[in-house]
Order: sequence, then C-alpha cells, then structure tokens
Amino acid sequence: MSVSTNGKKAMHIVLGGTFDPVHFGHLRMTQEMLNRFPTAKISLMPAAYPPHRPQPGASPQQRIEMLQLVAGKYPQLTVDNRELQRKEPSYSVVTLREIRHELEQKGVGDACLVFLMGTDAFAKLNEWYQWQELIKLTNILVVGRPSSQLPTEGEVAEFYQNFAIEDLESLPQHSFGKVGFCQMPQLDISSTYIREQINQGFSPRFLLPDGILEYINQHGLYGLNPKS
Ligand code: ATP
Ligand code: MG
Repeated sequence: MSVSTNGKKAMHIVLGGTFDPVHFGHLRMTQEMLNRFPTAKISLMPAAYPPHRPQPGASPQQRIEMLQLVAGKYPQLTVDNRELQRKEPSYSVVTLREIRHELEQKGVGDACLVFLMGTDAFAKLNEWYQWQELIKLTNILVVGRPSSQLPTEGEVAEFYQNFAIEDLESLPQHSFGKVGFCQMPQLDISSTYIREQINQGFSPRFLLPDGILEYINQHGLYGLNPKS
C-alpha cells in the first residue's frame, strides 16, 4: 500500500471491474496513470457480478488468477480480492470506505485515493448504491472510452461539474472530492468482444496479454476453443 514520501501525499488508484477477462484496455489505463503519477500504487479490484447481469464465463477464482498473472509481472499493480470474498453484495462505497479506513490505520489517512473508470461506467454512476457518497471518500478519474462520452446533462453531468478538478496535475494534492477526465489514446477493446470472439471460434490474440490467452485456452474459458 501507499507510503507518504517527501511530504507528498501517497497516491492509491483503484480500478474496479469484472475483468472477465482482463485486457489491454484495462492495462493501458493503468500505465497511462503511472506515466502521469509514477509513484502511485494501483489496485485491480475484481467485482462480483450483480445478479441482474449475465453471469460470466470465468469463475471469481479464475478472474482473480488472470489478474494475478498480470500483476505478478508489474510491482506497481496489485490485485484486491475483497469484493469477491464478501458473501453480501459488494458496493463500491462500502469498499472505498474500508480502504480509507485502512489508509488511516497505516498512518496515511491523507492519501490521495483515486477511483478510475471509463466513460461508460461513469455515465451510469447514478445507478450505483449511495453514489453521491463516493466523492466524500475518493477522487474519481474518468477515462475516455470509444462509443461513450462524458454525460452532458442529467445528475451525473451536474455531479461532474460540481466536483471537477481544474488541473489534473494537482490531483495528488487532494485526498478525495475531485472528479477529473483523463485524455489518452482510446482502445476499442472490451471483455465482451473478447468473449464473443472466443465463443465464435476466433482468436482474441493482441487484445490481451499472451499469458492471459494461454490461461483462457488451458481452462477452456468462454466457449469454443479459440484458434490461436
Ligand atoms: P465487459 O464488456 O464485460 O463489460 P469491459 O471491457 O467493459 O468488460 P470491465 O471489467 O467491465 O471491462 O471494465 C472495468 C472498468 O474499466 C470500467 O470502468 C470500464 O469503463 C473500464 N474500461 C474497460 N475497458 C476499457 C477501455 N478499452 N478503455 C477505457 N476504459 C475501459
Ligand atoms: Mg464493462
């Protein structure tokens, strides 16, 4: 976990998702963060599938293992399994409250916490449990994703305006309470597309790390055997 250095706040970035499977869209986001904030620690946090979503091809344990394969190679990345270990439904607001508490216990209660998400997730933020509480616990950094944009009207757009940070470089000075938008080259990659490709017998190679593709093949995930 993060440690304060030279009076600067420690920075802890959380990327939540279903990661079914993890792909280069997710991973490039983390690298773009590290390019801007080199001392940040990043947690990849797999979420349980909400009951109304179609259930995934990979089990929670398999999704964790795929993330661990990636995180094992990059010391700035860790896998945070807490949401998959819970028996009750996992809500981001509960998780972030827990993380804030842990940071306090580690003596870095003022750490800059950042919850990272794509524009598609952000556009639906108002569907999340106690969504307006999130900003009291964390900053939110939104990354552009093809086929979705920052909302321009409605309560999420208003929320964005109310908490918008003027200068993204100053983000590490804020423990929580700011929303920012981060420009980066957009990658039109989704786990859905990868699952569909495999299911149709096509290879998803070059959309995700080779090691993850090997894992998928070894475990026969997502339907038919891919032609890779
Ligand atoms: P699925 O198609 O199953 O929904 P996904 O590709 O959207 O999978 P998730 O695990 O749902 O992946 O995404 C986790 C987070 O990463 C979300 O906030 C999502 O917006 C973001 N994200 C995923 N892929 C990209 C991408 N290519 N570019 C930017 N953000 C992304
Ligand atoms: Mg998604």
